[in-house]
Amino acid sequence: MNIKQNIVTKNPCYTCGRTITVKGLMIHSVGCPQPRASVFANNWNNANANVCVHAVLQADGTVLQLLPWNRRGWHCGSGSNGSGNNTHIGVEMTEPDTIQYTGGSSFKDLNPAATKDFVAKTYRTAVELFAYLCKQYSLDPEKDGVIISHSEGHKRGIASNHGDVEHIWNKYGLTMAQFRRDIKKAMGGNATAGGTEQNAGNAPKSVSKGDTVTFTGGPVYKSSTAAQATVNKGITSKCEVTAVNLKGTHPYHCISQDGKGVYGWVNAESVKEVSTTAGNAPKSVSKGDTVTFIGGPVYKSSTAAQAATTKNVSSRCEVTAINEKGTHPYHCISQDGKGVYGWVDKASVKK
Ligand SMILES: [Zn+2]
Repeated sequence: MNIKQNIVTKNPCYTCGRTITVKGLMIHSVGCPQPRASVFANNWNNANANVCVHAVLQADGTVLQLLPWNRRGWHCGSGSNGSGNNTHIGVEMTEPDTIQYTGGSSFKDLNPAATKDFVAKTYRTAVELFAYLCKQYSLDPEKDGVIISHSEGHKRGIASNHGDVEHIWNKYGLTMAQFRRDIKKAMGGNATAGGTEQNAGNAPKSVSKGDTVTFTGGPVYKSSTAAQATVNKGITSKCEVTAVNLKGTHPYHCISQDGKGVYGWVNAESVKEVSTTAGNAPKSVSKGDTVTFIGGPVYKSSTAAQAATTKNVSSRCEVTAINEKGTHPYHCISQDGKGVYGWVDKASVKK
């Protein structure tokens, strides 16, 4: 899985700035034979668009993130019990161009082998993304109502009457029950133990006034409670936290220390703690951890003599493997589309 940020800054779901407390994740399937996520991203990056999901994913593992995860999307309409848009992140899977819709959610399969392969791959991408988001928001994927399809949302009275995703999954032997189990499995042992650094609401554990943090990009507001962002900064910047209001939706007032011009209140999800022990290796990095790669050489193996490349970027990465005996002990993969992929030195990583 490779999450690429492609925030649709013109879409009303983005510009109105409304946020939600994430209580679950809803899976959708686009309902048209279009395998490319960028087509949807381009369509929805429009002030006149009246819907938007948080992400659209592809069979090749690409995830285009269109909205900050805690922004209120508009992906499932509403039902007799309200709207899942107020509680659930919405994610669309793309569909292969080997099917042809014949009305409603019925379709003709022009190449069953290719379709099955495509659907299996988008399923896999969805499992990985949902496992990542469940960890981020401390969600138990098997708890009732947490992971639901659009059609399950309709049965629960919180979504419009659509057949996705079962209209396509069921034909290829996939079910929502299996999906929930696979997400749990993909989360590994520490599923909802709260062991991940980003818990519900997403705030780093202990950001205090005077701390230095990494702003990882996102909207900046005039006040901690402002409904609308004054600007959206697509940059990474080392900032000082000059004020904190944990009751605000944008709890941290940040000022760039590196001349990159961040000045204002930001969301908790836009901020990463910077270890105060400069240059020191993080205390305990484990497989599955999210860390900040702060720039440096990237190697093909943990023992390689020569770097494959040097990345001068700051990137949020998942540690996907560890070899403590290697000179480059951590295998890191960017979660923010910045392209870090390989083994890195301890000194290049901050927890
Ligand atoms: Zn849907």
